[in-house]
Amino acid sequence: AAPQLPRRIKPLDQVVVNKIAAGEIIVAPVHALKELIENSVDAGSTSIDILVKDGGLKLLQISDNGHGIDENDLPILCERFTTSKLQSFEDLQSIGTYGFRGEALASISHIAHLAITTRTANSPTGLRATYSDSKLITPKPGQPANPKPVHRNKGTQITVEDLFYNVPSRRRAFRSPSEEYTKILDLVGRYAVHCGGVAFSCKKYGDADVGVSTTAGATTTDRIRRIHGNSVASELLPFEVSDEYLGFKAKGMLSNANYHVKKTTLLLFINNRSVDSSSIRKGIESTYAPFLPKGGHPFAYMSLDIEPHRVDVNVHPTKREVNFLHEEEIVQKICESLQEKLAAVDTSRSYALTQ
Ligand code: ADP
Ligand code: MG
Repeated sequence: AAPQLPRRIKPLDQVVVNKIAAGEIIVAPVHALKELIENSVDAGSTSIDILVKDGGLKLLQISDNGHGIDENDLPILCERFTTSKLQSFEDLQSIGTYGFRGEALASISHIAHLAITTRTANSPTGLRATYSDSKLITPKPGQPANPKPVHRNKGTQITVEDLFYNVPSRRRAFRSPSEEYTKILDLVGRYAVHCGGVAFSCKKYGDADVGVSTTAGATTTDRIRRIHGNSVASELLPFEVSDEYLGFKAKGMLSNANYHVKKTTLLLFINNRSVDSSSIRKGIESTYAPFLPKGGHPFAYMSLDIEPHRVDVNVHPTKREVNFLHEEEIVQKICESLQEKLAAVDTSRSYALTQ
């Protein structure tokens, strides 16, 4: 028999490479939306409106009143690794904004139809630009210029249509648009609680009523009430702890011992990004356990600021997980302080009851 020879190694086509990379960053519509929300917050917006069709697979649109995008930046806006937020690798250590890698818009442009309408404080009109594979789409003869002038107020509107239209296997993996919409509402709700000074709205295309809505002036408690209801909002304990040696500051609003539900709600932000941390979740749950009836769980909103040079945000392409120094000690410190707080309230409550 003929000997088996290896197949020769060839570089992948750049378009394929970009689609693979984009698919790692954006696995579901909610991941695209998270990047877009963070961009709008980074742009200093005080109002962010989100419109969703078919769980974000047909349409994801986000409109903000932030500083807009300079006309001269539109041609390179969706190139990979173009950003206004980071210049050197060292900057990664002190980055105060959400985004930092200039990958979000690039990724979206590879796997969706992307249109951006924007206006800055000193531009005479708004501009609308459409992108494909990182680049401005070249208009066909007789078509209007790209970008083209349009009416709009200061700020930016990003329209993402037909997400994964060119990644059929990914597209097929989504069975239920309503499941994706639930994830989207959960995410928007998180940012709506965390981002004081920003009014949020989120609704389904064609729906009269909104899924999430908050006002810019609302307090944290008000925002929690809007999104999670009055029963939890009326049983919240403000919480704060910091430690200079460990280089962190935690602030939040957590339910007291009067309140419990079947599943823990944890709204966790680390350096202003919504993230998940099983160590913090477990720590909070076991701190509450002695104070709550069996099977009862708390509500916790916690914003953790850790000195940026102690945090490694680059462990995961989606930036959903972060690593930080002294994780165990920080979680322990938070739980000790929470325990004291819960115990103090519990004592005063049982004292009041015996009076
Ligand atoms: P990054 O946020 O990491 O810089 P992105 O691809 O998310 O990368 O965005 C690229 C750049 O586009 C940002 O640095 C910012 O200058 C600009 N930009 C994106 N979205 C907005 C927005 N909503 N308002 C103003 N500028 C924006
Ligand atoms: Mg970004």
